[in-house]
Amino acid sequence: MKTLFNKPLTNKTLTNKKTLPTSTAGSLPKPAWLAEPETLWSPWKLQGDELTEGKHDALCLSLQDQQHAGIDIVSDGEQTRQHFVTTFIEHLNGVDFEKRKTIKIRDRYEASVPTVVGPVSRQKSVFVEDAKFLRQQTKQPIKWALPGPMTMIDTLYDDHYKSREKLAWEFAKILNQEAKELEAAGVDIIQFDEPAFNVFFDEVNKWGIACLEKAIEGLKCETAVHICYGYGIKANTDWKKTLGSEWRQYEEAFPKLKKSNIDIISLECHNSHVPMELLELIRGKKVMVGAIDVATDTIETPEEVANTLRKALKFVDADKLYPCTNCGMAPLSRKVATAKLNALSAGAEIIRKELSALS
Ligand code: ZN
Repeated sequence: MKTLFNKPLTNKTLTNKKTLPTSTAGSLPKPAWLAEPETLWSPWKLQGDELTEGKHDALCLSLQDQQHAGIDIVSDGEQTRQHFVTTFIEHLNGVDFEKRKTIKIRDRYEASVPTVVGPVSRQKSVFVEDAKFLRQQTKQPIKWALPGPMTMIDTLYDDHYKSREKLAWEFAKILNQEAKELEAAGVDIIQFDEPAFNVFFDEVNKWGIACLEKAIEGLKCETAVHICYGYGIKANTDWKKTLGSEWRQYEEAFPKLKKSNIDIISLECHNSHVPMELLELIRGKKVMVGAIDVATDTIETPEEVANTLRKALKFVDADKLYPCTNCGMAPLSRKVATAKLNALSAGAEIIRKELSALS
């Protein structure tokens, strides 16, 4: 059976027995000296060696913020990347970043994207050095996020394969190479971000989940898929207004995801119109329950976090529940993000106490 840690830990105070281990969905705000705050695709403020050093310093700061807030499964806060999809693609062959085309992404908003001009391949690892660096900084379990194959193809114009399925399959093979190296670097959980799973339901069931399983093929560490309603940017909040009072998008992918080899499913729950009972459809899977809204600066109270977790516990067994954020927090201020992390920890602690009082 897989455990949370794929390597024995020397720090005995942390064990995989901890109930409700907290984590974040992915990105965290960058310091203002590294990139323009509260902006997506924010340009770097440093260059060359200073940029390399600055990214590592920011990674350490982000890690420290998570540790001070008591987050159990930590990450790099995506400090070394400009964007969760494009930074990975920038490192691949076959994609021309000069040749840009405006397309509609997630069937929602127009964006100028690079073009696939030939066979895609990975010359060398993309994030492995960063992951090794993070591994050196902490003995806590670490999670590393990669874009999912379907979300990657949806952020590009394809002038070569002319088939979304074929291109996604090629990306899945590349992601699998990267994931195997991340695992060897000591990453405990590899997460694939698939917001596109909430949009293209037919494709998800026809080949999206198969591509995801290709990306995790042969991995011994834990694997996760993050499916959300996106960052708190205007295009997404406008879209959410059109979804009505009940968001049942998860219902489409859950039955097949339940049967898949993915270990953990990371979801948006707090302040969202997702009916909690949909979690019943993935009973048995580990679930990262989003208990922090990333689309508002309002800080959740620990009791609000606890409330979301209590609702989730009706459908997720306590040993499979991982309190988390709804999505990445890159577009928020550091102050707000830190306060939200503190609330997440405090809320999880309330439920831990309630659970231990019951047992
Ligand atoms: Zn997300």
